[in-house]
Amino acid sequence: MAIDESGGFRGSRRFEQGVLDVLERGYEQLDDSLGLRPSRKLEVVVYDPAIFDRQFAARFRFAAAGFYAGVIRIRGATQVTTGLVRVLNHELLHAALDAEAPSTVFPGWLNEGLAEWFEARTVGKRHLSGPEMDALERGRRDGRLVSLASLSTPSFGNLGPGAASFAYLQSYGMVDFLARQYGERKLREFTQSLVRSRDLHRSLSRVYRADLASLETRFLAELN
Ligand SMILES: [Zn+2]
Repeated sequence: MAIDESGGFRGSRRFEQGVLDVLERGYEQLDDSLGLRPSRKLEVVVYDPAIFDRQFAARFRFAAAGFYAGVIRIRGATQVTTGLVRVLNHELLHAALDAEAPSTVFPGWLNEGLAEWFEARTVGKRHLSGPEMDALERGRRDGRLVSLASLSTPSFGNLGPGAASFAYLQSYGMVDFLARQYGERKLREFTQSLVRSRDLHRSLSRVYRADLASLETRFLAELN
């Protein structure tokens, strides 16, 4: 993986090296966890936070720490914190899916759910936390939980802050459900099938022997 740091971020070499190390570890983990091994060069630009905000804040209605749009763009920091590790790996997943299945638009819940699941996994978090599960259950009770079909737009950037963070949580919850109920090996098979066939429904039925509606119903049944 080649890293092109050209964003004008005047961080220390040590910080840059730290970012590089995280991405290289993440790249290995992409293959281990999800069977993704993009051969295309992935570009990463780390910005000075003020410059990032000035250039990109208008794209989001919530505070973004990074995003992927052909290039991974990261809001810089002075230290490689756990938060930054998560953001780097989150965006790395988007970049890898795009590199493995170029010009394919996956549903938002799937793309974001895999990114949330993968970033959590890279910091040793295997499943939804208790408070996250509670938040999903509360969301289901008060009607904030929506259908996955309505979370199919490619990005959640158009949602307000509250709705966006809930949409990410719900997407993560669905992927976590697949990993927990059917095993991580199947999730890896599913992801590989997805980038090979670029067909969500075919991949679900091949790997999980079920369609999206019935998997979603099983996921919702857990939230009671
Ligand atoms: Zn994302």
